Amino acid sequence: MDPLPAPAARCRSPSPRRSAFSRVSPLTCAAAPAGVRLPAAGRSPCSPVSGSHRHRRRARVSAFARYSLYARTRLGYLFYQRQVKKARERYPHGHSVPQPYCFPGLKILPIPVLSNNYSYLVIDTGSSQAAVIDPSDPLAVQAAIEEEGVMLEAIFCTHKHWDHSGGNWELCQKHSSCRVYGSALDAIPQLTHPLADREKVSVGCLTFEALATPGHTVGHMVYVLDGGPFGSPPRLFSGDLLFLAGCGRPFEGSPETMLASLDLAMSLGEDTLLWPGHEYALECLTFASLLELDNSALEQKLQWAVQQRQEKRSTCPSTLGEEQTYNPFLRTHRPELQEALGLWQARGEDPDAFRARVLKEVRRRKDLYQAT
Ligand SMILES: [Zn+2]
Repeated sequence: MDPLPAPAARCRSPSPRRSAFSRVSPLTCAAAPAGVRLPAAGRSPCSPVSGSHRHRRRARVSAFARYSLYARTRLGYLFYQRQVKKARERYPHGHSVPQPYCFPGLKILPIPVLSNNYSYLVIDTGSSQAAVIDPSDPLAVQAAIEEEGVMLEAIFCTHKHWDHSGGNWELCQKHSSCRVYGSALDAIPQLTHPLADREKVSVGCLTFEALATPGHTVGHMVYVLDGGPFGSPPRLFSGDLLFLAGCGRPFEGSPETMLASLDLAMSLGEDTLLWPGHEYALECLTFASLLELDNSALEQKLQWAVQQRQEKRSTCPSTLGEEQTYNPFLRTHRPELQEALGLWQARGEDPDAFRARVLKEVRRRKDLYQAT
């Protein structure tokens, strides 16, 4: 989710990799395609260091207050409605060109909604039964349902944020037998079927497994579509847990909680296809390239993503195997990343506790990068 807009913030250049960040030129930012969130002019990651401890603490408190307003009050819903309206005006055909993925018996249709979200219509082509993951803009999802001529049997919500669940009510009005799945720990609108960790749900020939992945929200869940019946790898619909080269902010969990959730996702296997909740690839890859200067897999993926986004093509799916080569949030065990951050494991420090410390530092730098 994008919380309520922040007041202008200043970026503090991370000292151990100051030279890396100072290599970012305004040209790099200006070269980004339209619709991609990059630092505003004059506020690049190479901006001068600024801000006292008190200033940073105030900024953290303010971010928490904005998050609480978004996630826990009606103001958040009104903000979401404004987001939908603006996005429909700005991207009447979506922020990206929809690219359906067809396999024998299965079709996955990414639906670009808001300014960078994805909903996914997943269809059992044999029975024309379908499920949607994270319906954000109900009009866009309904248009895809009608275009495909399918019956909406189920909504799977990864978490409660409006940009993932705001379309539930309207879709349930149109499809009265539609079931709404998600965690009971998140206040998901119109939830009819609360799910437990590892619970499986069938829609036609499709089988989804829910995995509890707290951190972004306390009840965040991801959904794994079994690829077995289709002779293909599993598919992970990761919501705001994991993005291409990035991960969601731990609004309602500690770095340790987030790390455990990421590790759980990674246990699905390298060939698992990743379908995230947002099109953040270019921003995340650009940030990652400032941390790891000599990562050729990262460099290649960034170049590829620039090309994709110039043509408004989606960058999804990637695979979990690929992600391990360039996603800094999945590379907390890698000495090259630890060294780039200036972090070393203390004598006697638990390895996972150290990795959580690395994750926290990557997150901190990413937040500073986004605040510019
Ligand atoms: Zn979210």
